[in-house]
Amino acid sequence: MPQCNDIKEVANFLSKDASTNRQVDGQGVAAVFNIATGLAIWCSEAMTLALVLFVAWRHNIRNEAYLYWGLGFFLTAVGFAMIALSGQVPSLLSIEIGNAIALLGQSAWVAGFLALDRKKIEWWALLPPAVWLAGVFLPWVNTDYSNRVVLYNLASATGATALALAVAAGDMRRERTRVKLMGVFVIQGCLCFGSAFTMALTLPNDIEATNLGGASAMASAFLLTIAFAFTCRLIMERSERHLRTMTLTDSLTGVLNRRGLLGYFDAIQERAHNEQRKVAVILFDLDHFKRVNDRFGHQSGDAVLTAFARMARQYIPHHIFGRMGGEEFAAFAAVADQTEAEAIAEAIRTEFCRLPISTGEAIVPATVSIGIALSSSIEANIDKLISAADRALYAAKAAGRNCTVTFGEAEAAAPAPAAPSTTAGELVPTVDDQIEALRRMGTLSRAG
Ligand code: GH3
Ligand code: MG
Ligand code: MG
Repeated sequence: MPQCNDIKEVANFLSKDASTNRQVDGQGVAAVFNIATGLAIWCSEAMTLALVLFVAWRHNIRNEAYLYWGLGFFLTAVGFAMIALSGQVPSLLSIEIGNAIALLGQSAWVAGFLALDRKKIEWWALLPPAVWLAGVFLPWVNTDYSNRVVLYNLASATGATALALAVAAGDMRRERTRVKLMGVFVIQGCLCFGSAFTMALTLPNDIEATNLGGASAMASAFLLTIAFAFTCRLIMERSERHLRTMTLTDSLTGVLNRRGLLGYFDAIQERAHNEQRKVAVILFDLDHFKRVNDRFGHQSGDAVLTAFARMARQYIPHHIFGRMGGEEFAAFAAVADQTEAEAIAEAIRTEFCRLPISTGEAIVPATVSIGIALSSSIEANIDKLISAADRALYAAKAAGRNCTVTFGEAEAAAPAPAAPSTTAGELVPTVDDQIEALRRMGTLSRAG
């Protein structure tokens, strides 16, 4: 962050010595010119960025990070403009308040990074102006230009540390750009602390302090530009990830959609291979769902789909579960054997029977039929497994619904089962239905 206190004061001081000390005058004028130019460039650059960020915020007012960052650039521009007016406006305005406003800009940036992660704004965001205001009214600081530059650097270093902390508070593992961004702020903090300590130890005169402050300001401005670029990259990566997630997520239930789920098959196959397990594909189809819609309305049907998805997902190891379409869902799992796959499926099926799905006026009864197919990890083929699980599901429907069937060799050899009756069975199967289903399941497993 550029820091530049009392430029006009130094200019006056230098011009007083001009007749007696040309060397000092030459250096001083050069230093004042550079810093004044730097200030003007910074003000116009900061105002432009503030405008861009305000426009971005107006486009999406829920994203408060843009508002805070825009405010940060606006405040630093105003603060530095006030500092540049030193000598023409009361010194309280240009020095004490001007620097405090510029430092408040850093607080707004900290708030921006916290808002980006939907975190509440912390008190320590206000440390940069607080450090400045706590020290600037001390007599030995207020009347001494070098000490004020030291104080500004300390306040600015606090701001850089707060920025590094705000960046680190987010998900550093997933968003690798954060590490680089935090690194930039850490370097900036070290630079500001370093120049504050150097000046405190070497006690430079006003010209040296101006030059040192100017060099530190230029380095800080350069680092800030890099930080801005990294922040843009962080936002772009985040929005790309958001879009990717949206294309792989089912909008109604929030679980994976078909495309998202199929994308996990290779990972499951690899996991099963590494852990010497089998690959299981489990297909779910809600029973008589058309009747649920007809009887309770489409919205109630949606509520049933959402309730089922939320509940079932929790039972699947690593939550590799998604909606294949309509009222059909699927899961992939690496399991030790058929028993483990059936245990998962049965846990979901029995839990779903018990799940009270309330739609305001009524409790909607619903059941699910399940088909399972297993394969060794080496032979696992997604199309074959889904087709086998589909046939098992078909058999579960034929067996009376609300049951689980695992695809066995007998079924593979058998002709495709006849279409299940759409008239038989109630929303909640009768006891006879259940007994019949169990009997058929027993026959199928004996045949397998
Ligand atoms: P079965 O027990 O044989 O599976 O019978 P079913 O009625 O569940 O199967 P069918 O394929 O005849 O009907 C599926 C119904 O699912 C028809 C369709 O209206 C409904 N459906 C599909 N997608 C949605 C959705 O997003 N929301 C709601 N509420 N209903 C849906
Ligand atoms: Mg169906
Ligand atoms: Mg169905």
